[in-house]
Amino acid sequence: GPGTDTLLQTDGLTKRFGGFTAIDDVDFSVETGELRCLIGPNGAGKSTLLKLITGRHDATSGAIYYDGTDITTRRPNERVDLGIGMKFQVPSVFDELTAYENMRLSVQRTHADAHLDEAILDALERIDLAARATTPAGELSHGQQGRLEIGMAAALEPDLLLLDEPVAGLSVEERNEVADLVTELNDDGIAFIVIEHDIDFVAEIAHEVTVLHGGEVFREGSIEAIRDDDDVRRIYLGG
Ligand code: ADP
Ligand code: MG
Repeated sequence: GPGTDTLLQTDGLTKRFGGFTAIDDVDFSVETGELRCLIGPNGAGKSTLLKLITGRHDATSGAIYYDGTDITTRRPNERVDLGIGMKFQVPSVFDELTAYENMRLSVQRTHADAHLDEAILDALERIDLAARATTPAGELSHGQQGRLEIGMAAALEPDLLLLDEPVAGLSVEERNEVADLVTELNDDGIAFIVIEHDIDFVAEIAHEVTVLHGGEVFREGSIEAIRDDDDVRRIYLGG
C-alpha cells in the first residue's frame, strides 16, 4: 500500500477507449507537498491520466489511492471534497462575470458569509488581480484569466492541484507570472501535478518529472536527468 508521505498513488491504472488503451498499467505517485510535472508527446495520455485522477473518466482497471483512501470509484465531487482540485485545459471562467464574481463562486464554498468579501479580495490579491476585481473576466488578458482560474481552484483549499497545460498560448512574461503563482501555492503546501510541453517552464517549477509515452510511464527523474535523456529527446522527435 501507499507509504506515509504518499498523497496520491495509482496502482496498475488502465483506461481503454473501445479497443484503444490510452493509459496502460500506470503506477504513478505524488508525495505530500510535491510539485511534479507530467510531460510527453501529444497523445501520450497525460490529460487522460488527470481525468482518471479527478474522476471525470472511470478507470477500466487498476486503482487510485488518495491520502490512504481508495478513491477509484468515488464521484468527482467527492474527490474535490477530499482535496483534489483541477484547472482544465479548456478555460472555465465565466466571461460575463467580473473577476470578483468568478472568485466568489469558489470562495463561497469554503467561507462563511460573514467573511466572504474579505476572503474574495484576499484571494484576488494572492493572484495579483485585486485591481481588476470589477473587470469582466472576458476582458482580462490570457495571463490574468489563467491566474484567475488557478486562484479559483486554489480557493477551494485543495491538498493536490492538477493543472493541464496552464501556460499554453501565454507570452513569456505571462508564463513567468504563472510559474511564480504555482511556486507560491506550492510553498504554501499545495502539491501539484502540472502537464506541460514547455521544458523551460518545467525547469522553472518542477522538482520531479514523469514522462508518459504511449500511455505508459517512460521515465521518471529530476528535470536535469530528463532533459539530458536521449531516449526522451527521441520520443519528442517522433522517433
Ligand atoms: P495527451 O494529453 O497526452 O496529449 P490524451 O490523454 O488527451 O493525450 O489522449 C491520449 C490518447 O487517448 C489519444 O490517442 C487520444 O486520441 C485518446 N483519447 C483521449 N480521450 C479519448 C476519448 N474520450 N475517447 C477516445 N479516445 C480518447
Ligand atoms: Mg492533453
